[in-house]
Order: sequence, then structure tokens, then C-alpha cells
Amino acid sequence: MAAMIRVVLFDLDDTLFHHRQAVRDGITAHVAATLPGVDARPHADRWDELEELHYHRYLTGELDYLGQRRARARDFMAGFGHSFADDAAAEEWFEVYLREYVRAWTLFDDALPCLARLAASGYRVGMITNGIPSFQQPKLDTLSLAAHFEHVVTSGEFGAPKPDPAIFLHTCGLFGVEPSEAAYVGDRLQTDAVGAASAGLTGVWLLRDREPTAGEAAAASGVHVVRSLDALPGILGA
Ligand SMILES: [Mg+2]
Repeated sequence: MAAMIRVVLFDLDDTLFHHRQAVRDGITAHVAATLPGVDARPHADRWDELEELHYHRYLTGELDYLGQRRARARDFMAGFGHSFADDAAAEEWFEVYLREYVRAWTLFDDALPCLARLAASGYRVGMITNGIPSFQQPKLDTLSLAAHFEHVVTSGEFGAPKPDPAIFLHTCGLFGVEPSEAAYVGDRLQTDAVGAASAGLTGVWLLRDREPTAGEAAAASGVHVVRSLDALPGILGA
């Protein structure tokens, strides 16, 4: 099966781009600047959880894009006894956080070497990311990633997010290949690896350094599991 793969598709956040670290560094700096004397590091986990909660509500259509930002700002600052006067104040707070987040952008160390090896082995490379183009494209441009990708598909532009099979099939269509000729690599088991496998691609779950739960291990039976992007060329036969 692996010998037939001609196209390798990647997730962006927490697969190539170290989103989680940038988020933690960003919120820590933002709190340090706006709440003097408060150490934000113990609260970074809660910021992560609120992103998970409210961004998911955006992906399911329950909140619009600015709405999930306001919800994250309100819930987080409520923990410090702070409430925002209006929507604009919550959005402004989030904008300042975003500047700190952008300052902290970085790639995983294995990202560019992996892309270079795939290119040297003749693979065609693309991206499918859940998000909006105006937010995801600057990461590709700023971090020198853009030139590595023949096609970049964002859920905001396409109209349906992963794990909807439609976005995987649409991207295979852009490359002119069958799903069986493509692999998809991402850090989320269901959204990325299982979603891709359900659409007929080879699903690869990038687990990095944590242990899977028993439920995850069972759910991952139909996908490849790798600890580092360094292992990717090996499982593709590159
Ligand atoms: Mg991801």
C-alpha cells in the first residue's frame, strides 16, 4: 500500500507549526503585561482548555469566529475576577494576546527536514488545515513553509472542516490522485488520522511524546502512529 503513495498531506497546527507552545508563551506574556504580579504559567492549561472548548464550538457552527474569541477571553479573565464592558473590549483583549502569540510562532524541529526529505524522494506535498486563510496563510509565509506546498486547503475557504471526508477528497482531486495514493499526517487522532483513513487515504497520527489512552490505542488500529516526523519517510517507503 505504501508504495502507491504519491502525495503527502499535512495538518498545520501542532503537526508542523508548534501552535501549543506559541499559545502558552503568548498567554503567559499577555497576562504578565495586563495583570501585574500574576504568574500566568499555572493558568496556561486553562487557556488551552478554553481554546479547545470554544474553537470546537466555532467548528460546529455554534459560534462565529469572533464569538469564539470573545468566549475564550471572557471565560479566562473571569477566573481573575475581571469582566469586559462589551464585545469590543473582549475582542481588543484578544487582539493584544494575538500579537504575543504571533511573536512566539515557531516550527517543530523535525518539520523542515521532513519536508526536504519528501521533496528529495519525489513526493508531492500539500496541506489541509481547519481554520481561515487569513489566519493560517501568514504562518506559512512567516515560517518559510509556503514554498513546500503545492496546494493548501483551509476549511474556512472550502466550507467544511476535517474530519469531513469531503475536504480530504477535494484535496486529492486538486492533486489529481485517488485517495489511496495519498497520506495525511496530523496530531489529532479522529480529526486527522481517522478522518483521512475514513476517506480512503493512509492516515498517520503524529502522537509525539505522550502516551495514547486505551481508547485512543484501539481507535488508532487502522492508522499509522509516529512519534516524530523523522519517522514519516520510513513508513511511506521514502
Ligand atoms: Mg493539528
